[in-house]
Amino acid sequence: MIAYVNGQFLPEEEASVSVFDRGFLFADAVYEVTAIINGKLVDFEHHMARLQRSCAELQLSFPYDLAELKQIHLQLVQQNNIEEGLVYLQLTRGNAKQRNFLYPDKQTKPTLVLFAQKMKIVENEKSKYGIKVVTVDDIRWQRCDIKTVALLAASMAKEYAKQQGADDAIFVKNGYVTEGSSSNCFIINHQNQIQTRGLNNEILPGITRQAILQLAREQGIDIVEKPFSIDEMLEAKEVFITSATTLVWPVIMANNQLIGEGKPGKLAIRLREIYLQKLK
Ligand code: PLP
Repeated sequence: MIAYVNGQFLPEEEASVSVFDRGFLFADAVYEVTAIINGKLVDFEHHMARLQRSCAELQLSFPYDLAELKQIHLQLVQQNNIEEGLVYLQLTRGNAKQRNFLYPDKQTKPTLVLFAQKMKIVENEKSKYGIKVVTVDDIRWQRCDIKTVALLAASMAKEYAKQQGADDAIFVKNGYVTEGSSSNCFIINHQNQIQTRGLNNEILPGITRQAILQLAREQGIDIVEKPFSIDEMLEAKEVFITSATTLVWPVIMANNQLIGEGKPGKLAIRLREIYLQKLK
């Protein structure tokens, strides 16, 4: 696999960063994951806009040209021969030379790392048969709107879900669903509306969330951006999650209870298909 580190394309064995990198020491880093479908980048501009916003929120400098970043993405797709998969980009505040909580001076160069990997996105079993989820307490920090690499709470949640025999975890705060461990979460309520939590500091503004809500609007489906409780989720007509690498995955079971008849929801499948059509 060929990776990219600060201006160089390197074999993965040679791709490395300093032990003093603030991404490593303080999780002082932001990232993006862009899907590749049919060799093409999905929603690239939106991902880069969110990356720039994440940087601005953390006063992390962003000395890159978007055309150049696109070229790096495309080169990785090509060099690694990827038809379907993802490109991962991570930008850290750089090598601080010694451990110090304070941000280093402005001269410190950020560290930019990218790699690509193959992944089955379109013909994925989970999109066809749906997934089982369990709810977990949302113990994350108060700035979940910034896409940082501080992902331990999400990792713990996913591990817990696996140990419970589920496919993924859904975070819950004060009895209400915030989002999936690495996705946004939606229900179809009994008014046949798509319901999902509105954007604020408690969830990541998902690029796929935005795309799917836009498609739903075009289809004339009612949308309500309002939190829903665990019970509302369990009793919903449908539940589904969205993210760059899952697109839309129906949820068929939550906390060992079937959602509806325990089959992938029709609307979730339809939205996934329309989204895929648009990407072709
Ligand atoms: N929410 C969280 C916590 C995530 O980690 C992700 C993706 O990694 C998402 C939502 C979905 O975002 P996107 O659709 O941009 O992939």
